Amino acid sequence: MFSQVVPEPIPVERFHGKAFRQKTIRNSISCQGRGLHTGELISLRLEPAEADSGIVFQRTDLVGAAPLVARYDQVIETRLSTVIGESGNPRNSIATIEHLMASLAGCGIGNVRIFVDGPEIPVLDGSAREFLFLIDCAGVDVLDAWQPMVEICRNVRVEHGDAWVELSPGDLEGFDLDVTIDFPAEAVGRQHIRLVAGEEAFRHEVAAARTFTFREEIEMLRAAGLARGGSLQNAIVVDGAEVLNPEGLRQADEFVRHKMMDAIGDLSLAGSPLRGRFSGYKCGHALNNQVLRALFATAGACRMIVPTARSTRKIVREAA
Ligand SMILES: [Zn+2]
Repeated sequence: MFSQVVPEPIPVERFHGKAFRQKTIRNSISCQGRGLHTGELISLRLEPAEADSGIVFQRTDLVGAAPLVARYDQVIETRLSTVIGESGNPRNSIATIEHLMASLAGCGIGNVRIFVDGPEIPVLDGSAREFLFLIDCAGVDVLDAWQPMVEICRNVRVEHGDAWVELSPGDLEGFDLDVTIDFPAEAVGRQHIRLVAGEEAFRHEVAAARTFTFREEIEMLRAAGLARGGSLQNAIVVDGAEVLNPEGLRQADEFVRHKMMDAIGDLSLAGSPLRGRFSGYKCGHALNNQVLRALFATAGACRMIVPTARSTRKIVREAA
């Protein structure tokens, strides 16, 4: 948890005045789609929210279900997707939030109320493209409040086997991401992408990249009663050197672009945009979540920065 706030000015010359207002969507908007794992038809509705309210999910099919704040410490499961849930009440959970979270983060939208009548967010086409379309249809409202940011002050690294992810200090005005994947399947192999976070980069470089799976994994998931809504309409399916989707890939390195999109969605659970660098090797939802937990649990690893009207900024709280 964060310790108490002690405002402390930081030299103005380090800031260069680049600050952003908080955003929400302009109008409510809804859609329906299948959940990847349950195969159920699920209704999703996004509603505007006031400044500093964050992104909050609400199950509408469970009577009296508590709202679920989209924050790293509310994540209860990361094996197949990023799942948030109420502690002590496993029924009140929502899976596969990462592509919607990435789309909101990609557009710089940090305040929305999200209503869903089932246990997962519709998978739509397996990418962020259709969520972007929803957001574009709803429109964006700029709110009268500065967007706080989380500055990474020290390296934080987590590992699992040969996979690792790291957050490190970097440019105070931006967030750089670097992702490398390496799969034995020849159709995927080793791929690398680097991106400076921003709406244009998100829209053009990663939003259209679909989730992917391997033929042998599908059989295992189906046997376990999962991936019931999975099809060639919402995932790339790889079989060795072959992509089984008749339309092929949207981009030659669509796989690593999707992992980058997942990372953007998972890291948005910091609650405010990060300032610094992210590097990931064979990264996935589990490591993406663990590195945020490590960031906020390590003394001095980060601090919250809030622009002020004079484009100065203040430390308002520090990691305990
Ligand atoms: Zn994904």
